[in-house]
Amino acid sequence: MSWGMASEACCYVYYPEDENDLLEIFELAKVRGMTVGFRGAGQSYGDAALNGEQILVDLSGWNRILDWDPENGLITVQSGVTIAQLWRRVVSSGWWPPVVPGTMNPTVGGCASMNIHGKNHWQVGSFGDHVVDFKALLPSGKIVYCSRLKSQDLYYGMLGSFGMLGCFLSMTLQLKQISSGEVQVTALSAANLDDLLRIIDIHKDEDYVVGWVDCMVGSSAIGRGIVHTARHLDLPSQNILTDDVAMSTHELPTKILGVLPAKYLWIFLRMFNHRMGYKIVNAVRYYLGLLRNGHRFVQSLAQFNFLLDYIPNWKRAFLPGGLIQYQCFVPFRNAYTVFHKIIQCCTNSKSPPYLGVVKRHKADDFLISCNLDGYSLAIDFSVKDSNRAGLSSLLAELDKIVLDAGGRFYFAKDSTLNPEVARSFLGPKTLARLMELKLGCDPGGLLQSNLSRRILPELHGYQVDKG
Ligand SMILES: Cc1cc2nc3c(=O)[nH]c(=O)nc-3n(C[C@H](O)[C@H](O)[C@H](O)COP(=O)(O)OP(=O)(O)OC[C@H]3O[C@@H](n4cnc5c(N)ncnc54)[C@H](O)[C@@H]3O)c2cc1C
Repeated sequence: MSWGMASEACCYVYYPEDENDLLEIFELAKVRGMTVGFRGAGQSYGDAALNGEQILVDLSGWNRILDWDPENGLITVQSGVTIAQLWRRVVSSGWWPPVVPGTMNPTVGGCASMNIHGKNHWQVGSFGDHVVDFKALLPSGKIVYCSRLKSQDLYYGMLGSFGMLGCFLSMTLQLKQISSGEVQVTALSAANLDDLLRIIDIHKDEDYVVGWVDCMVGSSAIGRGIVHTARHLDLPSQNILTDDVAMSTHELPTKILGVLPAKYLWIFLRMFNHRMGYKIVNAVRYYLGLLRNGHRFVQSLAQFNFLLDYIPNWKRAFLPGGLIQYQCFVPFRNAYTVFHKIIQCCTNSKSPPYLGVVKRHKADDFLISCNLDGYSLAIDFSVKDSNRAGLSSLLAELDKIVLDAGGRFYFAKDSTLNPEVARSFLGPKTLARLMELKLGCDPGGLLQSNLSRRILPELHGYQVDKG
């Protein structure tokens, strides 16, 4: 299944123990005339880690930390090591992964393959910016070692190219030095979209900024929400080398409000999986935020960054249809107009998003990239049999608004883009370069996924469906 559980596929799943096993899988696929897709922890919202009726290689077993240098913050890991393993290993020595997603479950291979971003993207760039070097196996059987100085083309090509060029075997990451493992967080309430973007903008010197948007209200309150800004707590004299007890203070609480077991809360959340429910939850969140405007508190880096892990399995509240996310990136100059239009289209639709999140970004040099100097808006929708068709026409309408404004899309979150939109945002030069790299790394066209066939069929030599 996709992480959001809105799409599924039957695949022949293999669990290689090492690169020799993977080579054998490649050979088997060639003999059988099949294609191969990769899966890390399966935390992509859409169909990136599915390869329907074909071979899917589950790499989550490659989870060994190969080398850790706490003097310099350099760590070498197999590609199936998760972000959770990573931070738990390094935090007590005063280091932290500089880029983490909203959950700690993804693998570093999946993060590299999608070149993920955090709530600090405009400050530190994306995951790939901190990959010192990586070792990868190409479908040809060739092993490559890439860094910014060595095999530069492949370095900038593979980081972000959604598993289409080769398999990351291991990589070395440069971590960020920290002195306390904690952040000072400030919660600021925003009355509307203008206010929200202004607050995010004036806090650009903070280490992290993220805006939550209530997408259920229209008119003058459109885009109202709460912005969280955070700054690393610098306590130079504090020694964060920890024993087990201190280590547990970094972890997420297992009980909400000190009493409710977090793991059962998704059952309670199910009651709110409808329009009125989203209205209530969003309004309560907004007014609580308004009451606590300016509230400051200290959180561990894990608690601040992995907010979406507080309630394990919360996605189950959206069963049976699951959920999808739509994340678009828009240049600064157009962001207000575009986000305003998007939220308006959503509030007028029959399927409003139950959650909206705004982040700030900067442009980068990776070949396949959603990043630009501007903001992203991520909106989450519950999928039901009754709204599938309406949702896809709503999202097609949003695609057009985003494209017209010079915007971009993020394949890790995508479930609905069509080839025409994907091609327009990538542009002919990038596409030609991707095809060239694909021919060089994977001349037999072995590597595919449901995502790649949906958005870029020409990458696999398939006829492009003009419809
Ligand atoms: C709750 C939640 C919050 C999230 N928050 C954020 C966020 O804040 N920012 C953000 O950027 N993303 C975010 N994501 C998305 C997530 O970080 C990415 O989808 C990430 O790629 C998932 O990693 P994974 O290991 O699960 O990879 P999978 O989902 O299993 O695979 C992702 C892609 O990587 C490829 N792949 C996996 N391993 C390898 C490998 N070793 N070699 C080559 N290709 C490989 C797969 O083929 C696939 O194309 C979030 C996801 C969830 C569920």
